Amino acid sequence: MIELRGVSKVYGRGEQAVTALRNVSLRVEYGEIFGVLGQSGAGKSTLIRCVNLLERPTGGEVRVDGKDMLSLSPAALREARQGIGMIFQHFNLFNSRTVAGNVAWPLEVAGWPRERIQERVEELLALVGLADKARAYPAQLSGGQKQRVGIARALAPRPRILLSDEATSALDPETTRSVLGLLRDINQKLGLTILLITHQMEVVKSICDSVAVLEQGRVVEQGKAVDLIARP
Ligand code: ADP
Ligand code: ADP
Repeated sequence: MIELRGVSKVYGRGEQAVTALRNVSLRVEYGEIFGVLGQSGAGKSTLIRCVNLLERPTGGEVRVDGKDMLSLSPAALREARQGIGMIFQHFNLFNSRTVAGNVAWPLEVAGWPRERIQERVEELLALVGLADKARAYPAQLSGGQKQRVGIARALAPRPRILLSDEATSALDPETTRSVLGLLRDINQKLGLTILLITHQMEVVKSICDSVAVLEQGRVVEQGKAVDLIARP
């Protein structure tokens, strides 16, 4: 489903060069929740951004659904990205648009007809438990509600993969549990494959099937979450 082979990433050049990823290989299977765990600066954000090519690796291979992402034409890359949703630590919502407007946005960009957008937005808001908030603005929502909008927006074009960039890091423990519960739900209901990055062991423990531990740009451990976490 997602495969990184020998991926490296160097920012800048010469004396300013920073190596963020060193020969990273990992494999995310269909339908699983895969967590990349590491401290701040370990390279997690760079790694996840190399999957949808928000960041271009300096070396190595990125395959998504069998496609060699680095060799796609701009048009083919745009299409491949439709199949990859993303959610963020600080939600990245448009403050000037309503909840419905935020969720509708990727569908407007993709050129969906009005009636289908309306229908899809209603379906998504029901899925994330915000059916009564369609006309509200982000400023009127709690953090957990904002992230639910982020999730609905990411799911709108029916992606098969969801990338989560520290999606619960800005939330309190109780809200974190409820958002993680929602992610587990959509993973099971929709068969969505989820690749998430986090610095919180709790996140890995509560919802990940597999985990890779990243330290200074290297994968130092990788396996089933139950095996890695049970180890003394
Ligand atoms: P994490 O998400 O685990 O905190 P990052 O991927 O953000 O790690 O960063 C890994 C390393 O790459 C850090 O040393 C960081 O300072 C550096 N880095 C990240 N983005 C950039 C960038 N755009 N330019 C230069 N260095 C960067
Ligand atoms: P904004 O002012 O934030 O841009 P709009 O009212 O223009 O929001 O709506 C943007 C999109 O959201 C439209 O495509 C519309 O069909 C859809 N939408 C608006 N209100 C609802 C609602 N209550 N339920 C479902 N979809 C809605």
